[in-house]
Amino acid sequence: MKTVGIDIGGTKIKAGLVEGAKVLKIIEIETEANKGKQKVIKNITKAIESVLEKDVRGIGVGFAGVVDNKGVVLISPHIKALERFNIKKHFRKKFSKRVEVGNEVRAATLAEARYGAGRKYKNIMLITIGTGIGGGIMANGRIYKGKGNAGEAGHTTINFDGIKSSCCKNYGCFEEYVSARGLQRNFGEKKNPEEIAEMAARGNVKARKAYQEMGRNLGVGIINIANMLNPDIVIVNGGIARSWKLFEKEMRKTIKERGFLGIKVAKARLTDGGIIGAALLLERKP
Ligand SMILES: [Zn+2]
Repeated sequence: MKTVGIDIGGTKIKAGLVEGAKVLKIIEIETEANKGKQKVIKNITKAIESVLEKDVRGIGVGFAGVVDNKGVVLISPHIKALERFNIKKHFRKKFSKRVEVGNEVRAATLAEARYGAGRKYKNIMLITIGTGIGGGIMANGRIYKGKGNAGEAGHTTINFDGIKSSCCKNYGCFEEYVSARGLQRNFGEKKNPEEIAEMAARGNVKARKAYQEMGRNLGVGIINIANMLNPDIVIVNGGIARSWKLFEKEMRKTIKERGFLGIKVAKARLTDGGIIGAALLLERKP
């Protein structure tokens, strides 16, 4: 049975026609999050329309932010324009299809658990590294939400006397060091993660060190998570995880030297986990 899965991020919207782990059709467009509510809604609509087929069973939406059970956006630092907007109600009416909405990192966690690196496991922590760090927890085969927002690993402290966080009121947040901006700070010049990765691949020492330093910090953050949750596996996801080879060694070395419990860490396997996971949200009982 086909489903539409859509992953709404702060920069890009990705939509796909999904059947199990297969993505049959895919589109990626800009979110244009700073151009106001109507524009963002229009972009989401356009993305859905371009992959929608008549016989799909529904639309699963993974959203970059906190969404309540009714499908209303409560908090979204990167897509402020949609705060208080009821995604579920709007698109159910628009397309006359069942719509389920959830957090995008939890959707990716579902996908990796079902079809990816977490396939053999029931206790999983997935962290996604990009603009910041997001986290999804699966406990005994089910997504664990706590009061609603469990998994915000990015705002755990890895440096008590560290830099003032730009993400929250804390100092030395995990994501302040392990993210696009953390990498840029390590590098010392305004470059994005892909540019730094390209330079590292060409042998630039400063670029290689920027990733290695990030790997050390990532190792520390993963130890914190693993000591608390003792998961079967920690899965590293997100755009920056694509440069796995540039930081894996330092990350593993740090975990080995400083870790308390045995920790299994792997890179996410699915390229379109966000879309596949969004489609999986439809498995929830209506
Ligand atoms: Zn923070």
